[in-house]
Amino acid sequence: MSRLVVVSNRVAPITEGEPAAGGLAVGVLDALRAEGGVWFGWSGEIADGAEPLPNPGRDVGRITLRTIDLSRRDYDEFYRGFANGTLWPVLHYQMGLARFDWTEFAGYNRVNALFACSLKSVLRPDDLVWAHDYHLLGLAEALRKDGVENRMGLFLHTPFPEPGVLMSVPAHAALVQAMAAYDLIGFQTEPDRTAFADYVLRQAGGAAPGDGRLAAYGRSFRTGVYPIGVHVDAIRAEAEAQANRREALRLRVNLQGRSLILSVDRLDYAKGLRQRFVAFERFLADTPAVHGKVIFMQIAPPSRSDIQTYREIRHELEAEAGRINGRFADVDWVPLRYLNRSFPRAALMPLYAEARVGLVTPLRDGMNLVAKEYVAAQDPEDPGVLVLSQFAGAARELDAALVVNPYDEAGVAAALDQALAMSIEERRGRHAAMLDVLRTNSLDAWRDRFVADLRAG
Ligand code: UDP
Repeated sequence: MSRLVVVSNRVAPITEGEPAAGGLAVGVLDALRAEGGVWFGWSGEIADGAEPLPNPGRDVGRITLRTIDLSRRDYDEFYRGFANGTLWPVLHYQMGLARFDWTEFAGYNRVNALFACSLKSVLRPDDLVWAHDYHLLGLAEALRKDGVENRMGLFLHTPFPEPGVLMSVPAHAALVQAMAAYDLIGFQTEPDRTAFADYVLRQAGGAAPGDGRLAAYGRSFRTGVYPIGVHVDAIRAEAEAQANRREALRLRVNLQGRSLILSVDRLDYAKGLRQRFVAFERFLADTPAVHGKVIFMQIAPPSRSDIQTYREIRHELEAEAGRINGRFADVDWVPLRYLNRSFPRAALMPLYAEARVGLVTPLRDGMNLVAKEYVAAQDPEDPGVLVLSQFAGAARELDAALVVNPYDEAGVAAALDQALAMSIEERRGRHAAMLDVLRTNSLDAWRDRFVADLRAG
């Protein structure tokens, strides 16, 4: 069978026998462990004057890790610039936070070409190339220009915005044309796939012969929907494992019977943290009966802190947390705990299990694995309630959650009230329905369906 070659911006620093963090890393590692293969990407190192050849390979079990270094200019123009300064906000419908610079776009294309050139040196003719995410929209086009004819697929972990939003990026035409060089493009949800197809049909004069296939730019390629999932049973086992429960036990003792509302997000403006804080404030203002009885804990590890918009959101949230606590705290109660740090994934699962409410309200999210992990971690006999943004990809599947509009403070506040008052029968019913979906759309199903479709052509 053909070898699988996974390409992503970063290669996760994996060690044999240790669990990996994050959905992409977990899903990809499973696939590579099962079949053997190569994982190719940026090392995370900045090295000026680096050769476009990959660093020496490192074998971890049946997986070979191949990495390249980036120059400071590559990092600034490609990573901080076009990928995270332009594409990330626009893909998440945050056009007002996006900037655009043709030099950075040229840098993005240069790094995609660098990946292609370097990858070509390790590719065999029948390898399957599986690229991940918004950093690599141009990889297939660059490989094809280099004469590489392998089957190539792209899975986009982020949303794909409607054409009117995408077109705020001045280079939109070149971007979508580059994506068409893949043989298969996978999206998290049907609305993402439809938005992409709309662009191809209406803006690029393409055709849709059916079955997800699109014809445009002189090529024919497939599109499909592959919602990324989680390992349901492994998460519940992690939530219960004594070795992982140290923080959870300390938290339980400290809660003294108060109800916990928990949110876990990378510190990112697309996660809607400011709106969520304000909705919690509204909930406290509207519901004096819960004062002293409920605690909202926001875990928010800093991310991309060398980008200005990320530093700004961090300052803003620190101020908001202080203001809300200042307004409501009492001598024996502080309502909002804002933890600006990360937890190992294994320690997070028992924390989910302690929470009466999982509050997941991104303004936009490709999927949001935290929502799925929260559900999987619950005790089925006494599960907590998921309050979920309608704009998270996960809401397409988890419609038994309390689905809210994250821009509607009063609506989110009302959902918190409803969640905390929900009967055990209703909680069990909603949880069982969501667990069924999680088992069907598992992480294995995501990977197997994508790889099978890529192989089938
Ligand atoms: N996560 C973690 N430690 C933390 C916070 C988050 O391991 O302190 C993990 C979390 O369990 C989840 C992932 O990071 O698997 C976040 O994925 P998600 O899809 O929710 O959001 P993303 O960060 O990819 O936008």
